Amino acid sequence: MDIKTKQEKLKEIYDGFEIRAQPFKAGAVCEVGCAFCCIHFGNVDAITLEGLIIHEWIGTLDKQDQINIRKKIAKNMKKREKRSITRCPFLKKDNTCLIYTIRPFSCRQLYSLRKCTNSGPMVHRQAVELAKKTVKKLQQLDATGYSGHISYILHLIAKPDFRKLYKSGGFNPVNIMPFGKKYGIVINRIVSKNKI
Ligand code: SF4
Repeated sequence: MDIKTKQEKLKEIYDGFEIRAQPFKAGAVCEVGCAFCCIHFGNVDAITLEGLIIHEWIGTLDKQDQINIRKKIAKNMKKREKRSITRCPFLKKDNTCLIYTIRPFSCRQLYSLRKCTNSGPMVHRQAVELAKKTVKKLQQLDATGYSGHISYILHLIAKPDFRKLYKSGGFNPVNIMPFGKKYGIVINRIVSKNKI
């Protein structure tokens, strides 16, 4: 399957999730400008296909904005390596999302039935199950990609040789560790099975 077809299927999976999750999300208290999950969780993960879409969007920005966002992604990656929680590089000063229409599934699945506190969001068990099934579908769709923290994915997809190999469909996820090593990031798992 070529990348364009995969991107269309990705949208279908997002839409399917939204329809099925709607009865659960109807009771959510989430509102624009809250951004608790974008600041306090720090585990925004993505599949490579989602990373490619975001990477290509970054390429449409003017030069200075590209430099600024890449600096934020690099800072985010360093914090992630130290396991510290940091605000998402795409969160704007007004606490809205810079990439809202192309945000990864790990953001789309989140909602809460009560205001988030240190204990995190409250969600329906059925919605969690639905999200897990959706993650499996995404990973099957992107079987020739890697899934992991968004900063790692964007770091790798920005490298021309990785991008070329991935876009050709020739990347084998079991080779992610040497690729990570080559580009100065430590990847200590091969492919996540349950979590994006
Ligand atoms: S990508 Fe957007 S929605 Fe997702 S954590 Fe970042 S700012 Fe929040």
